[in-house]
Amino acid sequence: MINEQMYARGAESSVIREIFSYANERKAQIGTENVFDFSLGNPSVPAPDEVRRSIERSLTLPPEQVHGYTPAPGAPEVRSAVAASLNRRFNTSYTMADIFMTVGAAASVCCTLNAVACPGDEVIVIAPYFPEYRVWIEMAGATCVEVLANQETFQIDPAAVAAAITERTAAVIIDSPNNPTGAVYSRANIEALAAVLEDANAARAQRLGHPQPIVLISDEPYREITYGAEVPWVPSLYEHTVVCYSYSKSLSLPGERVGWVLVPQVSEGARRVMTAVAGAARSLGFVCAPALFQRVVMDCVDVPSDVAAYARNRELLTSALSKMGYTYVEPDGAFYLWVRALEPDAEAFCEKAKAYELLPVPSNSFGVEGWVRVGYCVAPEVIERSLPAWQRLADDYGVTQA
Ligand code: PLP
Repeated sequence: MINEQMYARGAESSVIREIFSYANERKAQIGTENVFDFSLGNPSVPAPDEVRRSIERSLTLPPEQVHGYTPAPGAPEVRSAVAASLNRRFNTSYTMADIFMTVGAAASVCCTLNAVACPGDEVIVIAPYFPEYRVWIEMAGATCVEVLANQETFQIDPAAVAAAITERTAAVIIDSPNNPTGAVYSRANIEALAAVLEDANAARAQRLGHPQPIVLISDEPYREITYGAEVPWVPSLYEHTVVCYSYSKSLSLPGERVGWVLVPQVSEGARRVMTAVAGAARSLGFVCAPALFQRVVMDCVDVPSDVAAYARNRELLTSALSKMGYTYVEPDGAFYLWVRALEPDAEAFCEKAKAYELLPVPSNSFGVEGWVRVGYCVAPEVIERSLPAWQRLADDYGVTQA
């Protein structure tokens, strides 16, 4: 016996991972320096020194304090440290009761989806979107409903969200700074979305006789990776917000698997959501977040992210590509450049790019046609060496230089 749904998930591979594997094969064949792999969102900036110092300090403690199970929601002192840090930054009054430590943002979103969506429900995503959302939504038995972002600004289109809401809408997932576009949703944009959700909630309460608010899942692994744009604190704009966070990008710890879910405990409904998040984490077998890295989080909770290297890469790449005649979305955050493919079929464009060992990700995997994602979380030399290849690719398509 086999679970065919799980088999299908295992047998299909993520396009991003496929390109990454292909890049490694090509590197072995023709040399690392000749392959321009822009596929994966693995931070190129090393984890800050404070992380190493925290680990070294922890290793002098009795092992059971470092390697033992923690309570399922996380070590109390860690959750308190996270809450205190948020309070300092966002003028809030959270406590450890609002925080549930997780195994990274993937687990944060998965647990939240399983907590708030029932089989048959619908969850809205803003396209283009992080491809795993569909997998996690369907795993929760819900349907993934794609709503296109504004195709000029890549901000949320509140009217389109309003049109997609049905009786079965359980949640909306937003991701800002955005993977894959690099857009940062403005305060006005999130306020407009919040107004749409409030209207839908009010109409629903009137029809059903009891409130069953739509949950806004704000997936924020890139919150700290910005180039000057304000990233509004979403729970201050919409009450029924669950924030999903991780240290994969901000502290460059993607392999260590640590993050949190924040459910502000402002109502009986919110307390029930938090209990359901705990139930989902239990049901999915997460047990607890890694104990050693919970301690790292406690020690490094206010350590700033080093975005200077990403800012330099962004400048290097955008100034060169714009001179070559490529068009792209000016990224305000994250470390991805969303570039228009030079033909409508992004997959065909990526095949052509392969001939020059250029490996971006076609937009089809993010739910839209005609674009590619270029991850610039790479060494600057990779970008510099790739520029002649981007030029030759543009020449192939007869693009005139700007
Ligand atoms: N959400 C988004 C938008 C991401 O880009 C990623 C990873 O790239 C994740 C969630 C998963 O992050 P984590 O490594 O913390 O599980």
